[in-house]
Amino acid sequence: MEGATYRCPACGCQYAALRPRWRCDCGSHLDLGPGRGLGRGEIVAGEATLWRYAAALALQGPRCVSLGEGWTPLVRRRWHGAEIFFKLESQMPTGSFKDRGAAVMINHLVEAGVGPIHEDSSGNAGASLAAYAAAAGIPCRIYVPAAAPRGKLVQIAAAGADLRAVPGTRQSVSEAALAAAGESFYASHNWQPFFIEGTKTLAFELWEQLDFRAPDNILVPTGYGSNILGLERGFDELERCGEITARPRLFAVQAANCAAFAAAWAAGADRFVPFAAEPTIADGIATPRPVRIAAVLRALRRSKGGVAAVAEAEIMPALAALGRLGLFVEPTAATAGAALSNLLQDGTIAPEETTIVVLTGHGLKAAERIGELLGGLHPPGWIGPGSEPQETAERP
Ligand SMILES: [Zn+2]
Repeated sequence: MEGATYRCPACGCQYAALRPRWRCDCGSHLDLGPGRGLGRGEIVAGEATLWRYAAALALQGPRCVSLGEGWTPLVRRRWHGAEIFFKLESQMPTGSFKDRGAAVMINHLVEAGVGPIHEDSSGNAGASLAAYAAAAGIPCRIYVPAAAPRGKLVQIAAAGADLRAVPGTRQSVSEAALAAAGESFYASHNWQPFFIEGTKTLAFELWEQLDFRAPDNILVPTGYGSNILGLERGFDELERCGEITARPRLFAVQAANCAAFAAAWAAGADRFVPFAAEPTIADGIATPRPVRIAAVLRALRRSKGGVAAVAEAEIMPALAALGRLGLFVEPTAATAGAALSNLLQDGTIAPEETTIVVLTGHGLKAAERIGELLGGLHPPGWIGPGSEPQETAERP
């Protein structure tokens, strides 16, 4: 395949993607040019991973690293009387959707001959990149918030990465990683366009699993927006190849306590609008300053979807309701269930439409915290953290 090209959305500069580079000389992030697209005849049907769509990926050669990512289940469950499709991205090799992006990005970085890498993450992307770097034999350092769920930190350490816990906000973590950009290659999933090249396979999978149709609505928990941009890119390629005629509405789901997209959306703005960020249990989407905010807002508007911000008090009940459907997810992913309830209730989404809820991260990532929080809800018969001491019968 001819080499892919990076394009700067700010100044128009172009660069060959095979030279390691994480941003434009002007300081902006870079994008890949339009992809070549995918026809259904090009799918490698026997390949039960995202590599069944290898023909559409902007890599030079065949993959050299894979942990079996992609081709995740799409299961039907009832939600407030409506039939809903839940996409279990939680069933990836490292338990989150990030493996799509990390797998394709690492394969690109290997092709580009990159040496040691580093990255900043709220936890899941770090766990994913650490695993793929380990699989590729690339030394890796991950900056994370000191307050990230312990399960995610353990995952990163277990992959052999150099783990750096940074006190303060998610933004402090990004700044620590940016400061290290001279020491090793900054393989940021939020900056690297090959991460989005990987997440676009989510669109291909949904289309194929729905018998080569696009759904009506897709709800995605959104921090930086890589799934929104991947979905836009993927459905765009399918439309250009004549495989679909209608595009789904994309809904970015946020925790209202830290909702950059909701703030911009409410203001009718096409770029970042200052807002007050509060702590949220949806740690995976607590993003005060998304890198590609303008592109994500544009994708949402183009799709005729929107932004759905859910209150903190709505998240754990949604997590518990998903759990009772057999779907154990982390609080970040549960925001999509809460948003679905709201969008069904206010009529934005009709029950007869084909609606996808993307469950982005597994509950085992944050099992301890979930146990504490569920205890606070006191479901009937709950015995565990937060439950009242059990009365024991007197022995005769
Ligand atoms: Zn530029």
